Amino acid sequence: ELTDVTDMLEEVADRFSFQLEQRNIAITIQVEPDVRSIMLDRDRIEQVLDNLISNSIKYTPEGGHIHIHAGCPERERLEVSVSDDGIGIPRKDLNRIFERFYRVDKARSRAMGGTGLGLSIAREIVKAHGGAIQLDSELGQGTKVTFTLPYLQEEAAG
Ligand code: ATP
Ligand code: MG
Repeated sequence: ELTDVTDMLEEVADRFSFQLEQRNIAITIQVEPDVRSIMLDRDRIEQVLDNLISNSIKYTPEGGHIHIHAGCPERERLEVSVSDDGIGIPRKDLNRIFERFYRVDKARSRAMGGTGLGLSIAREIVKAHGGAIQLDSELGQGTKVTFTLPYLQEEAAG
């Protein structure tokens, strides 16, 4: 369905408002003015965003900050990132982070619940849309997950 990007990002973020307030984590959303509505499976992409935001909340201490950015680096590509200033991921785990059931440091993860499937599902959904997803992280500094989705040709032309 043709989806307004700001609308979708705000709707997903709103679902976390209680948790965010409880943990004293701020969330900001920035959508560049050149971002256009995009054809996508909204439920699926919301599931991706849901997992990225919940990961950021789980692994960001009180007083932290989550930033969601949407831009259009090329006319035919939407780019969305979710970044946090949380605990980050050790370099040695980075290349395995999209594997099913892979979780960093079982001790810190066990306390948080979850199965370790979120990122692998996110990658499958993004791939099914013809896009790509990437994660950058610095231990103790934070994590940024970026995914891109192609605009269909007619949309890109419009
Ligand atoms: P699920 O999503 O199935 O509930 P999960 O959140 O543990 O469980 P993933 O979303 O796949 O699983 O994330 C895999 C692991 O990557 C997490 O267990 C965590 O160790 C690490 N991780 C993911 N996102 C972040 C983040 N924003 N900051 C720090 N670590 C992260
Ligand atoms: Mg998760």
